Amino acid sequence: MSEDNSPHVITLGTAGGPRWWRYREQKVRAGISTAVVVGDAVYMIDCGYSAGRQLVEAGHSLDAVQAVFLTHLHSDHIADLASIAMFSTFEITDEEREAIVLIGPGDRGVLPTVSPHAKVPPRPVSGHSPTPGTIETFTRLVEANATDLNERILDSLRPSPLDMFQPQDIVLPKGIGFEPNENPAPQMDPFVVYEDTRVRVSAILVEHPPMAPAFGYRFDTDDGAVVVSGDTAFTPNLITLAEGADLLLHEAIDLEWLTAKFPDPTSAQARAIRSHHERSHTSISDALAVARSADVSQLALHHLVPGTSGPSLERQLADETGLNAVVPNDLDIIPFGQHR
Ligand SMILES: [Zn+2]
Ligand SMILES: [Zn+2]
Repeated sequence: MSEDNSPHVITLGTAGGPRWWRYREQKVRAGISTAVVVGDAVYMIDCGYSAGRQLVEAGHSLDAVQAVFLTHLHSDHIADLASIAMFSTFEITDEEREAIVLIGPGDRGVLPTVSPHAKVPPRPVSGHSPTPGTIETFTRLVEANATDLNERILDSLRPSPLDMFQPQDIVLPKGIGFEPNENPAPQMDPFVVYEDTRVRVSAILVEHPPMAPAFGYRFDTDDGAVVVSGDTAFTPNLITLAEGADLLLHEAIDLEWLTAKFPDPTSAQARAIRSHHERSHTSISDALAVARSADVSQLALHHLVPGTSGPSLERQLADETGLNAVVPNDLDIIPFGQHR
């Protein structure tokens, strides 16, 4: 817990990718999830694996969580959403409280285009509704657990996650030209998606193809502002969103690792994996460029790919001067209030 009451971030989990990264004796980083703490209120961004457990490890509980924001619907960002929803039936002790607002992307509306390397046409799962948004994803997770939940609800008289959470699909501003396959991150202004007495949260589209829509979020408080990039390649929208913020949490991929892991330029699979990472994620130098262009006070790299690359990234940041840039561990506390 923070010594004083100034706003801060807790890096609940700092690994990116649908993996349990492990390397020799290194500790496995938890999946990507971030808590923004303002006074006695907690706001979560993404629910990677172990997010709920990490929240408790950090000394908080679901009782304090006002809202959860999903940057996009990749599994490494929502792996723990089901357990958070199910466990809420016991973890939330104040049943009179208002529902936790769950905000995230709406239905993509159209499937991604099929890879030109496909030998036979792949069959998508859930053909009747293959690109659900936040409301439908959450509802289906709850429904998949009906046997458990109905026992809790009927026999133990516990509340339903459908009452404890209020899922919302983000509605994009009109006329910005968004198209999931052709134009996933048109240049735009941030727009407000949530507001209460402590925070105003704005979103902007970021570039994470073929996933779309994908968002970065900015939290403005009376004492300072923090921005979370979500998964994104370099995009001018993020510079717009982060302008003048006190803290930017930016995703980062270790390109040295990527090149070492997939060195063979003649391998089609190696080329495909490298190209996916390079067009959908951000190198350390580009993350630094975004932080400098946006004139933020501090940069923290998270959503680390690979999830074992802390020492390598720190070494690559060692030459950085003029910008306070860190590679946090899980459960680090980073104050962002101007009184820190
Ligand atoms: Zn991710
Ligand atoms: Zn992603």
